[in-house]
Amino acid sequence: MRPSLRCLQAASAAVTSRSKSTSFIGLGQMGYQMAYNLFSKQYLQTNDAYFVVCDALPGSAVAFRENFSKQYPGAQINIANTPEEAARASSRIVTMLPSSPQVKTVYTGSIIPTLHKVHGVNANEETLCIDSTTLDVEVARQVASGVAETGGKMIDAPVSGGVTGAKAGTLSFLVGGTENAFEMAHPVLSLMGQRIIHCGPSGAGLAAKICNNLVLGVQQIVVAEAMLLGQSLGLDPAILASVINSSTGGCWASSVNNPAPSALPEKSPPCEREYEGGFATALMLKDMGLASDVASQTKSLLPLGEAAKQIYSTVIEKQPELARKDFSSVYCFLKDQGSLRTQ
Ligand code: NAD
Repeated sequence: MRPSLRCLQAASAAVTSRSKSTSFIGLGQMGYQMAYNLFSKQYLQTNDAYFVVCDALPGSAVAFRENFSKQYPGAQINIANTPEEAARASSRIVTMLPSSPQVKTVYTGSIIPTLHKVHGVNANEETLCIDSTTLDVEVARQVASGVAETGGKMIDAPVSGGVTGAKAGTLSFLVGGTENAFEMAHPVLSLMGQRIIHCGPSGAGLAAKICNNLVLGVQQIVVAEAMLLGQSLGLDPAILASVINSSTGGCWASSVNNPAPSALPEKSPPCEREYEGGFATALMLKDMGLASDVASQTKSLLPLGEAAKQIYSTVIEKQPELARKDFSSVYCFLKDQGSLRTQ
């Protein structure tokens, strides 16, 4: 039977809107802010952005649509109930999920089978997947090769810059993938970040991210130690922070994410809001675990990394309420352990 004109028109409309549309899956601390920048800047460029949002917690997608659809008349924000719906709706898919298990489930269980169907029906369909999750390098490579088998393209593009950078659109993207996929992704990434670095083939962005977070995880603990030690010696936290930040000990953990209340009077680190709204301790423990795993696979030594991983693990075990708080709350844990010692 020949397809009717209406059928062909509907199919062609679906193809057109899919090629114009972007789906964002994972609207957590980072994803919500990144999705907003991407959506609002695409809208300013085209005046008719098609945007699809999806999260395992449906309330997040509803809140996104409610918050922004009135501000941007003409834009279409649709909610996908599943990653499968999101993949069917858009030729650009961005994912920002907690870690390897979620990326595996979302891609292997939903996106890849959907792309097989979509590309199977119309070989002209193009799909670019950008995963900004921090996850295991090998899982990312497997998923990217699954997407490539459907005829789509995928990059790993984990980020550095935290929730503040996600909000301001100043993130750094560390990209792994082919030159061609990198070129395709660059205009999308530049709407959410300022530095976009092609680190090498699939998995290379994650390798760079894992090394960076290894440094960060260790530094945040030692800054907490120094801030507590200084105060026990009678130093004012603001004076101590200003000394460290203008000396050789200065680093992001001391100058932006200083864990001691009142240390950075002109800034607003998570410690000033009960360690809310930052990078969760549980996620930092996950990243230290990723570093530890790749180190044992490559027979690299991480004496400080292993010690830091153990400390974050103990923080969560002894004070589970800190698991979802910013990882600089390791300061509270060390402070509490210190006062137990003096009792
Ligand atoms: P988050 O836990 O706040 O957000 C993850 C989101 O994914 C949640 O909204 C969750 O509901 C959703 N989700 C989980 N499983 C899902 C599924 N199967 N389908 C759809 N949605 C699903 O985490 P975050 O802080 O936004 O971090 C996301 C990633 O970015 C992590 O890999 C983290 O390591 C990395 N990262 C975080 C920061 C930070 O400062 N928070 C900084 C750099 C990198």
